[in-house]
This record gives sequence, structure tokens and C-alpha cells, in this order.
Amino acid sequence: MKERLMTPGPADVPPETLLELAKPVFHHRTKEFRAILMAVTEGLKDVFRTKNDVFIFTSSGTGAMEASVSNLLAPGDKALCVRGGKFGERWGELAERFGAKAINLDVEWGRAAEPAAIEAALAKDPDIAAVYVTLCETSTGVATDVEAIGKVVAKTNACLVVDGISGVGAMPMKTDAWGVDLLVVGSQKALLLPPGLAFLSVSPKAWARIEKAPRRAYYFDLIAAREALADEDTPYTPANTLVAALRKSLDLLRKEGLEAVWARHARTAAATRAAVVAMRLRVYAAAPADALTAVVLPEGIDAEAARGLLRKKYGVAVAGGQEKLKGKIIRIGHLGYLDTLDTLGAIAALELVLAEMGVNVPLGAGVAAAQKVLLGK
Ligand SMILES: *Cc1c(COP(=O)(O)O)cnc(C)c1O
Repeated sequence: MKERLMTPGPADVPPETLLELAKPVFHHRTKEFRAILMAVTEGLKDVFRTKNDVFIFTSSGTGAMEASVSNLLAPGDKALCVRGGKFGERWGELAERFGAKAINLDVEWGRAAEPAAIEAALAKDPDIAAVYVTLCETSTGVATDVEAIGKVVAKTNACLVVDGISGVGAMPMKTDAWGVDLLVVGSQKALLLPPGLAFLSVSPKAWARIEKAPRRAYYFDLIAAREALADEDTPYTPANTLVAALRKSLDLLRKEGLEAVWARHARTAAATRAAVVAMRLRVYAAAPADALTAVVLPEGIDAEAARGLLRKKYGVAVAGGQEKLKGKIIRIGHLGYLDTLDTLGAIAALELVLAEMGVNVPLGAGVAAAQKVLLGK
């Protein structure tokens, strides 16, 4: 059976990049690797739409989330953390762990943060040091209006920190134009790589705070990372084989064109949402992201059982719900090395699985609705 990895990370990796990963391990303190490191760093800046410094860490995305807390905040600093799902909650936990005061702005799961609510919180508390938001809240499939929030935060002394781990590469993110001071990205979501690398961009406004804050991080110390990068190096051994493979994946993104990549994800997500409605199901997110679609399964149907059948009978791996959504939703990724037929296939497989589980689903309705969107009808 053919396996289709359609989870919203890790995501499937294109064969060109896999071949790169099959090559022998090489040493990192070489002229050749320095050239690769610098080329990849520039390539990431293109994808992030930034002229800010960009760093590559050997860790999953959370490592760079941690770096954006431990380097930026001094103990006692106030951090406004937008919490509308599992990943937003992580911001609050990280802030508290590093001795900052987390001011949690709770957003109902499935809804997006209101820029006006952030504006009000900042007005109420002018010494908030940083605002932490999530571009695509992968636990709920919600997209955040980072552009609008950026306008609000730019007028204050606070830094805007964005978890773009699953969003960047799948949906528009214009770091500089939108005033994002720290942007966190992970390798295994839309950047066409396996897990293992995290990326972080740092603006001049963020550097001013970082330089004043006590130096508390060691492995994730941004000042050390900046010094090393000035010498075309990293402070510690980088996952150099992954960095070399990233050069391939960035080439693929560049060849397709970033706008075309965003449009492809938008089209696939729109087709999936249309299919969900035609199948008489519901899209969980009120403001859906294009990186994934969270689908609410009918009352009485165990989403975990449906997910198991999708995987076992049809080779389609999707994610389930987290915490209070466990057993209620499935999350279909639009990330990574996927094509139109993977998505149509997943929709067809979901119709089959629901029918097998006794749901009165009109067979073919989801596929037809998706096809219409893909045709532009
Ligand atoms: C996947 C994900 C994370 C966690 O990243 P890890 O690579 O598992 O550390 C954080 N935030 C969002 C939005 C994600 O999608």
C-alpha cells in the first residue's frame, strides 16, 4: 500500500531533497559548508521576506520558540501571549518558565485573535515587552491576521514575536512589511524537510532588547549565534546534512515561486473546505488557515477510529485532535510534498471511511466539490 503523509507536520519530503539526504556525511568546518550555510541563510530570508538576521538551530521548532523567549525577556518582563490553542499556550508556558510575567489573552478555540483586543491590552499595560502570537494555530487550523497585529504592535515599544512554524511557506508571511520582530519557523512543516532544524529571524528592534536582557540561554544564545554567523559559522555542530538538504528544498520553492506556492496551498485548502461542506461536515476554524484543515466529524463518530481506518485501509495519515478536540476532529495537512491527487484521494478516502462507519455521506460529493474549486468553478 502506498503511504501518504498528510499530517500538518512532519510532512512529506520531495525526492530531490531525499536524495540529498542520502549523501555521505561531511565536515562542517569547511569552505564548502560555509558556502552552503550562507546560501541557505539568504534563501530563508527570501522565504521569510526579511532583511533581518536569520539563524538556523539544530532543534525542532520549539527550540527557536524558546530562544525567542529566553533571549528577549528579562525576568519580570511582561509578555502578552495570545492563547487560542495548544501552540499559543506554549508561549505562556515558556514565558513563565523563564521568569517573565505572562499576560494571557485567551481566544476561543477555533477563532482568531482580534487585533483590537491586542491594541487594548497594550494600551492598558504600556510596559508589555513583547506580544507572542501564532500565524497558523495548528491545533485548531486557525489563521491569525499578523499584518493587522503588526500595525498595532509597531506603534508601541513591544516586540512582535510570531510562531510561524506551520504557517511560513504555506501562507503569506511578510516579516519586514508586517513589522514582525522575531519569526520562528520549523523545518518539518511547509519547508520540505524532515524534523530537525528551527529558524529564527531577529529585527533591530528585537536586538536592542536582547542586548539589554541578561544572557540566560546557552545553546540558544542569539548573541553567540550572531558572532558565529559573522564568521560564516555556527556556535555548535549544526545538522549539516539537513542544512545541505534545505538548499535543495529552497531551490524547489524558488523555482515554483513563493507566491505560486502560497496560491497552491490556498487552492488545496479551499478545495478541502468545499469538500467538507459538501460531505455535510464542518470546518472547525472560523478563520481557517491554508496550511491544514481541521474537520469536525459527526456526533457519535470517534475521530480517532476514523483516523485509524484512513491510515490502515487507505494509507492516508492525518492528525487527530489535541486535548479537548481529541476524538472529535481530524486535521488534514496541505503541507509538504503533496499534489492535487493526494488531496482528492484523501477526500475520497474520508468519504469511504465515514460510509463504512455508518455515516450517511453522499459518496463523491466531497470529491466533486473539491474538483469544482480546483477548476475555478
Ligand atoms: C509543529 C508546531 C510547533 C511545534 O514545533 P516542534 O517542531 O514540534 O517543536 C509549534 N507551533 C506550531 C504552530 C506548530 O505547528
